[in-house]
Amino acid sequence: MIHNPEIECMSREDMRKLQSERLIKTVKTCYDKVPFYRRKMDELGVKPEDIKSIDDINKLPFTTKHDLRDEYPFGLQAVPMTDVRRIHASSGTTGKPVVDTYTDNDIANWSEGVARVLAAGNVGHGDIVQVAYGYGLFTGGLGAHDGANKRGAVQLPISAGNSEKQIMLMKDFGTSVLCCTPSYALHLAECIEKSDKVNIEDLKLRVGFFGAEPWTEGMRKELEDKLRIKAIDIYGLTEMSGPGVGGECECQNGTHLWEDMFFPEIINPDTLEPVAPGEFGELVFTSLCKEAMPILRYRTRDLTRLIYEPCKCGRTAVRMDRILGRSDDMMIIRGVNVFPSQIETVLTEFPTYTPYYFITVDRKNNEDTFDLDVELREEFYSPNPAKQMPFIKPLYDRIVSLVGIKPNIHILPPGSIERSTGKAKHVNDKRVFKN
Ligand code: ADP
Ligand code: ZN
Repeated sequence: MIHNPEIECMSREDMRKLQSERLIKTVKTCYDKVPFYRRKMDELGVKPEDIKSIDDINKLPFTTKHDLRDEYPFGLQAVPMTDVRRIHASSGTTGKPVVDTYTDNDIANWSEGVARVLAAGNVGHGDIVQVAYGYGLFTGGLGAHDGANKRGAVQLPISAGNSEKQIMLMKDFGTSVLCCTPSYALHLAECIEKSDKVNIEDLKLRVGFFGAEPWTEGMRKELEDKLRIKAIDIYGLTEMSGPGVGGECECQNGTHLWEDMFFPEIINPDTLEPVAPGEFGELVFTSLCKEAMPILRYRTRDLTRLIYEPCKCGRTAVRMDRILGRSDDMMIIRGVNVFPSQIETVLTEFPTYTPYYFITVDRKNNEDTFDLDVELREEFYSPNPAKQMPFIKPLYDRIVSLVGIKPNIHILPPGSIERSTGKAKHVNDKRVFKN
């Protein structure tokens, strides 16, 4: 089901017109109301009048996470606080969090983006949407909540954690839709498997919307099999409001980006030039509708590519490939670039392993070490190292061939690796001088 066919299926030509109008307005607001942007544009010698259409976007300055921190908390705000209705902030692993503020229209547009994704899973009246993303400053909980509201569905604001209760209510209330991180969904699936009170047959779950962290096709299969649902990817970031910047459609072949609100570009992160269409690079967004905190050319550090071929679903909105990872998640181990998601891909190829893993990187005797904790599934696990050996060898070979580095693999009993209720932590890089 398409939530807003007029926009989601708009001709490319009309979309460019709409984007041009909105860009011109956004740039003018940034220049007039946000000293940071006026300074940046003056440095580049660009005036709002120079932006005549969306084709002029590459004349504009970039915005980085660093800039957002420098302007903390409200330096990028373009409206007085009397027009603001809500403040959110991302977790921010180091230092100050990244702040976003919202007018009434911003909240409405944000809900619209989430509603478009939910509609792809036919979410509507009568659906019970269990929102197991964290509520609070994190945008996941309230973002999914407001989107469900816009679709006329029932909101169940349970937030993340308390898994026993999650699965009890899932059964008792007849939850049909689950929203949470893919790692938490996997944990809930495990809890259902282990539970003597709740059986998968008792549940009415039909579809899940998973995002806020990278996940793989292997993980999708795992979740769809275990929870007996359709698992749909939803993407977003605090800087662009939150979840619902885009999402998969029923074809599950790439994330449609809501280009009427967020203009995407892919750049080469070294040269900052656009890559050739269809090539991988860093995703950059310009907000086209945000009022409280408009953002020009925000460098997400997410690595992906854009797919312009039309989608079978009828939506004309461009699609984005799965996010390979964030450039700051990338580890350089013995000179080789490694993304945690590559390990998840490999693990989910094996029926013997769970998708849980933890990587520890260190440096000993001037050489990088790469330790990988994994779990064998219950039916394959034995504490006896000799019995583990036949499982280690194929995993080792596959990692060497796909990722290009030799891991020290440690097999742990099932359930030993920490389960996360939000975004999972996969890496501990202990090297003092990270390269
Ligand atoms: P933080 O930066 O603290 O994690 P956010 O919640 O704003 O705060 O995180 C946004 C980031 O989460 C995105 O830039 C992206 O890296 C990641 N992300 C969100 N949704 C997805 C998704 N569906 N697939 C992959 N990565 C995602
Ligand atoms: Zn589609």
